[in-house]
Amino acid sequence: MRVLAFFILLASMVTFEVKAFVPSEAYTFDFNVKTLRISRYKENKLIEAVDLLREVFASEEFKTRILNHRFKGKYRYAYNKGLTNRQIYNKILKGREELYPYINNAMDVEVGFFTNHKSIVIGYTWPQSKKIWMNTKYFNRFETEEIASHLFHEWLHKLGFDHERKRTHDRQFSVPYAVGRIALEIAREINEDRN
Ligand SMILES: [Zn+2]
Repeated sequence: MRVLAFFILLASMVTFEVKAFVPSEAYTFDFNVKTLRISRYKENKLIEAVDLLREVFASEEFKTRILNHRFKGKYRYAYNKGLTNRQIYNKILKGREELYPYINNAMDVEVGFFTNHKSIVIGYTWPQSKKIWMNTKYFNRFETEEIASHLFHEWLHKLGFDHERKRTHDRQFSVPYAVGRIALEIAREINEDRN
């Protein structure tokens, strides 16, 4: 009996440690994603993507992988605005957009759509706008994980992170690309575990 009690205590300690490892802002992070006049299909797909992103944010792996990212042999990102990996992780959780500069632990964004079948642009945004535009050509064929990752990539621009327009070697190590890819991979793992 005493042995059992010990194991129960040990098990509860392990659970506590895992929870304590991720800051509370990681699992209280909120998503204020506004849309305007979109179809039920698009809306449902976007809601699914946001729910998935919520799980990604709350995961321990999200934190670990952001902190452990390397660029040219060092724990850092390209175009990091002088921030360490940990500062970047904390900045994400604060959710302070340049156009909505409040530390509210939330993603505040508007999503709009455009259709261009000839374009290879998945989506875009620009610094003067709160809006993120997504190409329906990709949105419709994308999996939920890809939409989650794309939304996240564009939102990272809203926090002030940038990358080169050209497909350079360093671009993939920028915050929007690298952290967006981390989110994609974790989202896929979450969905795989579910199925
Ligand atoms: Zn980008």
